Amino acid sequence: MDTEKKMHFHTRVIHAALTPGEWQGATLPPIFQTAAHCHETAESLSDTFGGRTTEHIYARLTNPTNRVLEKKLAELEGGRGAVFMASGMAAITNACLALLRAGDEFVCGNSLFMSTYVLFANVFKKYGITARFVEPTDLAAIEAAINGKTRFLYLETIGNPKMDVPDLARAAELAHSHGLPLLVDNTLATPYLCRPLELGADIVIHSTTKYLSGHGDAAGGVVIDGANFNWSSERFPDFAPFVERKGELAYLDRVWRELHINFGTTAAPLHAYLTMLGLDTLALRMERHLANAEKVAGFLASQPKVQWVNYPGFADHPQHGVAQKQFGGLGFGGMLTFGLADQAACFRFINNLKMVYHLANIGDCKSLVIHPYSSQYLSFAEEPKKNLSITPDLVRFSVGIEAAEDIIDDLAQALAKI
Ligand SMILES: *Cc1c(COP(=O)(O)O)cnc(C)c1O
Repeated sequence: MDTEKKMHFHTRVIHAALTPGEWQGATLPPIFQTAAHCHETAESLSDTFGGRTTEHIYARLTNPTNRVLEKKLAELEGGRGAVFMASGMAAITNACLALLRAGDEFVCGNSLFMSTYVLFANVFKKYGITARFVEPTDLAAIEAAINGKTRFLYLETIGNPKMDVPDLARAAELAHSHGLPLLVDNTLATPYLCRPLELGADIVIHSTTKYLSGHGDAAGGVVIDGANFNWSSERFPDFAPFVERKGELAYLDRVWRELHINFGTTAAPLHAYLTMLGLDTLALRMERHLANAEKVAGFLASQPKVQWVNYPGFADHPQHGVAQKQFGGLGFGGMLTFGLADQAACFRFINNLKMVYHLANIGDCKSLVIHPYSSQYLSFAEEPKKNLSITPDLVRFSVGIEAAEDIIDDLAQALAKI
């Protein structure tokens, strides 16, 4: 169904991009489990290679199931097109490399998701690309890091797990005043809570593994193009062939044509299917994630054994006002961090939880806990750990959609044992 923009998010998240007539009435697209697609004539295959039709050729390039999800995610973020990939990291890698050549620079927040940080700080560096890490909430610091070699600004809607919330509208304005696009990883907010393209961002990226699929059953990532950026400017002479081919969608064409199909960052259609199934309940799940997070944050803040709680919903959070404005008063995300006395207390707490799952993921409908300092960040040096606010006393909690009372009961009984 081609849902009109005036329908509510709750409706569009279910109906957008579905065309049951094309699938013999099936309410979800079938899983097109095939490595290649037959063409009746030589002309047809040639036309498809030439981009004159939107038929399919080969699984690494496109898949009909994935294409429905791409259309749906683009519409939910207010974008014009999307490419679904095998993971959030595949999406981030391709989204950035589409803009980067050896010798280029970009500016990014210093509180990025762990693998993004490693990719930017260590991996890109090997290929002659420099990431300039700055405090993402400090516009003056962002501006000071921009120079003639800068190709884009990269931010996360909510830092994982620093929980900082940059002002995306002002960051977009700043980037545009220097002729740069703003790329935003919107994984923690989801389009339910925040739509960066509407705030002026140019490209949105998600790890769909998290809230969008929502059930911890499918890995995936997506790059969504707002198609509003002027790629014909002096900073991007290398975009000319893509502009010629696809006009406003030049960037997405480059992501797909140059990187996605050649790196082979293809997602299996089963993962697109599961993500679509999960999306049906995104709005409902987010309502509950947000409401539960607020209750859990309030409970933790009242506990004498809890030293501090980092949650953008608290009035004394440094970006509480920005979050209030940017998230339209709907809530403050489903994740929070808090501090116990020390690492030993965190371990005793985690080991005593009975219902909450202990694993390295977020955004599942189940409540999830992890001690990042001793796990995901184990191999990090002290300096980046400090910038990322990863301290030995920190517990990260992804609040699930169970009954809030049961989550709080589990936390309370584990706290009593430390
Ligand atoms: C998990 C995550 C990623 C990486 O996504 P994968 O699907 O695990 O590759 C990127 N950004 C954020 C904010 C994440 O939480």
